[in-house]
Amino acid sequence: MTTIPRYYQSLDFQKLWEKFPPAPEYMDSNYMLSRDALQALQEERFLLQMQRAWEIPFYQRHWGAAGMEPGDIRSLADLSGIPAFAVADLRDALSRNPPWGDFLGLDPETDEPLPLVLQTSGGTTGLPRPMLYAPVDREVMNINTGRRLYMQGVRPFDVIQVVLSLGLSNGGFLAREGIWKYSGAVPVMTGSGAQTPTRRQIEIMQAWKTTHLIGFPAYLRHMGHVMRDELKLDPRELGIRSLIVHLGVDDRASLEALWGGKVYDTYGTNECGSLAAECEQQTGAHVFEDSFVLEIVDKDSGVPLGCGERGVIYQTTLFKHLAPLIRFNSHDISAWAGGTCPCGSIHQRIERIYGRNDNMVKLRGTNIYPEAIGALVTEYPQSNGEYICVVERVDDAGREEMTVFVEALHADVDKAALERDLAVRCKEALGVKLTLRAVAPGELDAMTGLSSTSKTRRLIDKRPQP
Ligand SMILES: [Zn+2]
Repeated sequence: MTTIPRYYQSLDFQKLWEKFPPAPEYMDSNYMLSRDALQALQEERFLLQMQRAWEIPFYQRHWGAAGMEPGDIRSLADLSGIPAFAVADLRDALSRNPPWGDFLGLDPETDEPLPLVLQTSGGTTGLPRPMLYAPVDREVMNINTGRRLYMQGVRPFDVIQVVLSLGLSNGGFLAREGIWKYSGAVPVMTGSGAQTPTRRQIEIMQAWKTTHLIGFPAYLRHMGHVMRDELKLDPRELGIRSLIVHLGVDDRASLEALWGGKVYDTYGTNECGSLAAECEQQTGAHVFEDSFVLEIVDKDSGVPLGCGERGVIYQTTLFKHLAPLIRFNSHDISAWAGGTCPCGSIHQRIERIYGRNDNMVKLRGTNIYPEAIGALVTEYPQSNGEYICVVERVDDAGREEMTVFVEALHADVDKAALERDLAVRCKEALGVKLTLRAVAPGELDAMTGLSSTSKTRRLIDKRPQP
């Protein structure tokens, strides 16, 4: 007889909740552990995760090539000796072993069936990367979502409108699962602007008394502007208590002023869900250290960095059954936040994500992140904050230029003045001359995908690819 795996029999929930306490218990348990206790817990989970990883062909190949053998790694102190890997290695594994790659540790020919769910990376170009989640993977992610929401003030019966796109990319559905299972709040899944037009989103917010918004800052800013400038309504009167976002380099103060609510930063990925979240003190995102070990290292030398020094984040998971990550180079740029957090937790905190290492453009010897340009654009109230960078080769000598297109806030804005001021500001802040082009509001939408996807495109690279 066929065995059909049942989700609620696939996990010992009591046991799982003891190891990964959901909120509110988390706030008095693992969140408050001392450094010693936390380290002991991480050591134990790390060695189990290593054991699991050695069962997986991807790691056998990757580590074998570096001469590593099972048993070489005896504690977290040895972590830095493990070769890191990045998205390119996952793509390679997918093309060698279609359709899911050999990094999952799952063999449908021989394994007992288990309930699986598939989501993908947000991929803005080409086929997105698929990822399958086992029940324990998904459930720990949901617990972490619930913790993050609690830390950011969400309580039962709150109404959370999720304006992330609902489809293959993980963000929207993962938010729904975590809100529903572990926060007591009600998820309202309006999705991106392509799924529910912005004006309808706003009507729903008013009618159903939304208390929190989850989305990307660019779209939330756009929504606020539509409300204020087109519908002549004050977003602050909605009583939105918080905006739960991946802040990146977006400007927190102007977003908070627009909506009259708090803006809380979160660091999450499709492979891991939430890795870190700000508490109500807004002092940087506390890593969920019972679920992850993060490193921040110099992008070239791989040397670990101290507080305030920017480098790339390496992720190691402590709970995953399928596709555990051991030293995954995320290409995300951040830094450790210094000082202590008044909330009392000693869980490490990261600063905002400053950009992606692989999104970097080298222009006449200067490294430029499109996100850093975005941060400058939001300084100018004459713009609505929408922008896109186009980099291209302009002559046969290989000279490269970047043009930054910026949307004006409305039709009456003096575009020439905005271009002039922003060009000066970019030169001053980035040390390199860029061409600025101001355009009408909404004109960049087709290029950035602002109202159709939740992952907004900020760079178009027209240079010949090597
Ligand atoms: Zn805190």
